[in-house]
Amino acid sequence: MPPKGTLAEAKDFAQRHGAWIAARLGRLPKAAPFQPGTVIPLRGTPHRIVHRAGTRGTVWTETRDSGEKILCVAGGLEHVDRRVSDFLKREARRDLQRSAEAYAGELGVRVKRLSIRDQSSRWGSCTSAGSLSFSWRLILAPPFVLDYLAAHEVAHLVEMNHSARFWRVCGKVCPSMERAKKWLDTYGNDLHRYGVED
Ligand SMILES: [Zn+2]
Repeated sequence: MPPKGTLAEAKDFAQRHGAWIAARLGRLPKAAPFQPGTVIPLRGTPHRIVHRAGTRGTVWTETRDSGEKILCVAGGLEHVDRRVSDFLKREARRDLQRSAEAYAGELGVRVKRLSIRDQSSRWGSCTSAGSLSFSWRLILAPPFVLDYLAAHEVAHLVEMNHSARFWRVCGKVCPSMERAKKWLDTYGNDLHRYGVED
């Protein structure tokens, strides 16, 4: 509802435009919970979650003879969600750590702390004390997107703002910056449906 609208107006609108609303809702991305059968884009590549009860280990990837990539999860079915979630956060931390350290080396700055969060509104943030934090969901995007976010936050250690100079610093170390920004504008929102119950 618009801020100044009334409930009566909203009801009237809903009654007149029911089909339009239904069509819009039908286009909302579907929740993709971490359970067997769900396909998740690990580093941008689709992987189907497969439960391997009775197998040793925790979570690992395999490629089927058909070429299909799968994410195998051992242990009880009730732990699949938690195990996939832990795995993705661990992988996100590893990739972001490696990427941020490489950019920090290029820019001559130091990353004091790197944390992985479930930030719903931001992909990353940076404090003046040198602490970077990132959304674990970046592990679901293609690597050039994760790398751009790492470069962006590390560049804030040089320029704590979004000035023209900041974008020059960021673009210099990260040539795929514009492509990554465009990717996030187009597909970023879709990453929020993973690991969410219906
Ligand atoms: Zn920024």
